[in-house]
Amino acid sequence: MDIIETDVLVVGGGIVGLALLKEVSKDKNCILVEKNHSLIEETSSRNSGVIHSGIYYPEDSYKSKFCIEGKKLLYKFCEKYDISHKKTGKLLIGNKDNIQKFFSLVENASDMEIEHELLSKQQIASTLPFLEGQEFLNIKDSGVIDVHEFSSKLELLSERNGAYISLQSSLVNVTQYSDTLYESEIHTNNEYFIIKSKSIVFAAGLHTHALISSLNLRLNDHLKENFFLMGHYYKTKNWLNLKKLIYPVPEKNSLGVHLTIAANDPNTLILGPDAIEVNSINYQNNFFSEELKESFLSSIEKYIPSIRKVEIFPDYVGIRPKIHTTGFQDFQIIEQKAHNYKNLFILQGIDSPGLTSCLAIAQYVNNKIDLG
Ligand SMILES: Cc1cc2nc3c(=O)[nH]c(=O)nc-3n(C[C@H](O)[C@H](O)[C@H](O)COP(=O)(O)OP(=O)(O)OC[C@H]3O[C@@H](n4cnc5c(N)ncnc54)[C@H](O)[C@@H]3O)c2cc1C
Repeated sequence: MDIIETDVLVVGGGIVGLALLKEVSKDKNCILVEKNHSLIEETSSRNSGVIHSGIYYPEDSYKSKFCIEGKKLLYKFCEKYDISHKKTGKLLIGNKDNIQKFFSLVENASDMEIEHELLSKQQIASTLPFLEGQEFLNIKDSGVIDVHEFSSKLELLSERNGAYISLQSSLVNVTQYSDTLYESEIHTNNEYFIIKSKSIVFAAGLHTHALISSLNLRLNDHLKENFFLMGHYYKTKNWLNLKKLIYPVPEKNSLGVHLTIAANDPNTLILGPDAIEVNSINYQNNFFSEELKESFLSSIEKYIPSIRKVEIFPDYVGIRPKIHTTGFQDFQIIEQKAHNYKNLFILQGIDSPGLTSCLAIAQYVNNKIDLG
């Protein structure tokens, strides 16, 4: 059995784990373990690929802080490393059923100084005549990014810094060896090895609750109960030559079925996601039925009636980890002050805007790692 020593162990090769690895590896030894055959096979490659502005979240939340900081870092990163992306802007459409919520988002945008403008019906009629709605908010700094290009660059930069990535490597247990040292048991096919590290960051996405609950460390009390929401995506040609993302007003558990433009293909529109509660993490168990297609068409026709003129095709599904709460569903970052384990961090409930936020989350956690 091999024993490997390092400063920091990152668990999970999604976009958050990779962003962490890139950040941490600047001045520390680190290893990332990922249970799948390749990186970003789960939530990180099954989303809308949108760089969010930050208008949706209460000002004092992690989501607000990390989204606004993360957006700036992400645009800078894309420009520096030539990652396919586009600051398209986003149009949010309100109607009589959700007008109060619409104006609360306008207020939020003002409070947080997010660049925006209200457009009149006349302005819309002359520029985007195919849109239906009562109120229109133009949010200028939303955009789209090619997640695969982004993750490949994070991987490359981390490896250049000396970080090591171990695929098909599942963390199955952790014991605390001393106050400042952890021993993690990692399984690969039929073998296993040990990683001794001074710090562990769990960025295990949808698996966080089950994984943490199964460890000897007795961290369960700090976790929030969670549930999973599957979102389906369809695609179609960009028949309206849209240049902006088009969003309805958000619903309780999702941002609503929206239209985005693929970052590396302006001729393709991506439609989705819906939000259906599921009991397990199984991407094959999706429901691209005629009923689902009809429900997509009726959601979208409320703001683009001509959707009925084009054929839409099933594309992919993603699953969001959602925290059970009656209040706002924020990201959870569980750290030493909660559980008393030094340099151990658990990231839970990293749903949207986790992609936008990943570089800011990585900086936040890295700044808190204190190897003495
Ligand atoms: C439908 C949908 C739409 C979204 N749209 C957007 C959007 O437009 N913009 C935005 O900013 N965000 C969006 N998000 C959110 C964003 O995709 C996520 O917040 C982000 O991808 C989370 O990344 P992650 O690294 O935390 O998780 P994941 O990508 O799930 O990565 C976790 C990794 O941990 C690995 N792992 C788990 N357990 C173990 C173990 N024991 N050992 C080793 N490895 C393990 C898993 O295999 C997985 O690869 C969306 C999410 C969904 C589902």
